[in-house]
Amino acid sequence: MAALILDGKALAKTTEEELSARVASLKEKTGKTPILATILVGDDPASATYVKMKGNACARVGMESIRVVMDKNTTTEELLNKIQELNENPNVHGILLQHPVPRHIDERAAFEAIDARKDVDGVTCLGFGRMSMGERAYGCATPAGIMRLLKAYNIPLSGKHAVVVGRSAILGKPMAMMLLNANCTVTICHSKTENLPEFVKQADILVGAVGKPEFIKKSWIKPGAVVVDAGYHPGGVGDIEKGLEEVASAYTPVPGGVGPMTINTLIYQSVESGESLIK
Ligand code: NAP
Repeated sequence: MAALILDGKALAKTTEEELSARVASLKEKTGKTPILATILVGDDPASATYVKMKGNACARVGMESIRVVMDKNTTTEELLNKIQELNENPNVHGILLQHPVPRHIDERAAFEAIDARKDVDGVTCLGFGRMSMGERAYGCATPAGIMRLLKAYNIPLSGKHAVVVGRSAILGKPMAMMLLNANCTVTICHSKTENLPEFVKQADILVGAVGKPEFIKKSWIKPGAVVVDAGYHPGGVGDIEKGLEEVASAYTPVPGGVGPMTINTLIYQSVESGESLIK
């Protein structure tokens, strides 16, 4: 049977239609729309592109966004002050700090400064802890987007062995906790894992979040596995070798799989935040 393509681009588009209706309804009731503040520190072109794409996605659903651009020499204190200002601004319902920030800035401190009620990108320790404990919290956008994609395609998770390759704070770790909460048996692999192919071979659900182009080989994957490639590299290459249609039962394409769901989840959670904060 042909492998199922987990089409994040298509799901994001459908969801945007639903979100547009929710934003319009909120505006009709309150006269206000949700507002996402995006913070870009420095002049990394890829980060600038991501922030622009997020602003465009806000506009597509009728939301507003405020673009905060800070110089590459911004200090941690200056960034914390800006985040505090946005926390206190009643017209801001979500805050996105584009990752990564310049190396001299304490990124964790900056993430932690975001008010949990406005943490629509799911980057705070409090949000991670609440999510892990199964409490209400905005999920970290990339893994939460992956979970929404798996759910939309009715991929069975309960009792399955999920193998997550990567353990970063914004991807691998929250991904593993979300899969655990969905009753998967979870293995987390990382750069010190010995015999990585042996773990990958056991995966019913495989998530590649390594940050290295085509690092996970097709030959390691169990036939019939569901494969999620979170990686994105120039030339439309992911973290998993191309040709997944030959081995997987379902897989995310690169591009058009995980990437659109990340932005869509940020917007989705910003709309939820607007609905809860706008009186
Ligand atoms: P990261 O912070 O660089 O983390 C990479 C992880 O991979 C680390 O946990 C690292 O292990 C592990 N790793 C590195 N080399 C390995 C090896 N040889 N064997 C096994 N594990 C290894 O990257 P990230 O931010 O999580 O991003 C991962 C990928 O997702 C990247 O390709 C990135 O571009 C992509 N991404 C996509 C989106 C999207 O919206 N599509 C969003 C975010 C990220 P250690 O912890 O031991 O160092």
